Amino acid sequence: MAIADGAAALAEVRDIIARAAAIAGRDPAAVTLIAVSKTRGEDAVRPLLEAGHRDFGENRVQEAQAKWPLLLAEYPDVRLHLVGQLQSNKAADAARLFQMIHSVDRPSLVTALAKVSAPPVFLQLNIGEEPQKGGCAIAETPALLAQARGAGLDVRGLMAVPPADTEPAPYFALLAKLARDLDLPSLSMGMSDDYATAVQLGATHVRTGSALFGARAPQ
Ligand SMILES: *Cc1c(COP(=O)(O)O)cnc(C)c1O
Repeated sequence: MAIADGAAALAEVRDIIARAAAIAGRDPAAVTLIAVSKTRGEDAVRPLLEAGHRDFGENRVQEAQAKWPLLLAEYPDVRLHLVGQLQSNKAADAARLFQMIHSVDRPSLVTALAKVSAPPVFLQLNIGEEPQKGGCAIAETPALLAQARGAGLDVRGLMAVPPADTEPAPYFALLAKLARDLDLPSLSMGMSDDYATAVQLGATHVRTGSALFGARAPQ
């Protein structure tokens, strides 16, 4: 996809979100579209900024530190979302750069974030109980939430990435139920292949990269 197509891709993704929200009787304005710009350069990000888009996602603190400071000087109202794993020793750096952290998944990270001025967070769940994957176990989520709140973190909701190559809807529905049970209002779920389904099932934050920027080069 040519870079000039960025604004067109943005309009198309927004349209798909609006239609999915309409099917579910939801207000599309209640869905934040996060453009996941990991591995993309400034030339890919700029057309979206020029089209007025302001929510961007990155999965590595160091990459975001290299990419965003100059763009933030130009577009100070950009909101950066950390969607990837966070090491505790990067908590302070992350807190400085990001407006939201979607990947809080363990007690040691809560402790590290409590020592810095942390932005609002999502608790990331290992929703498919996959042994190789990050995320808090479902059974341990109430305890992690209690710890995070006790430490003064502003916990907005739950985040998850369903298992690959499976129908994601049951996992989205489960995440939504867990958030309801815990009285958490926000749901960070849905990526390029499944964000319409996620919106139908209650996503408040969808994280799309390739739908906006084209396929990522293999890393
Ligand atoms: C890369 C990434 C995304 C975006 O993935 P696409 O399939 O390109 O939309 C979303 N969430 C997380 C956690 C990611 O790492």
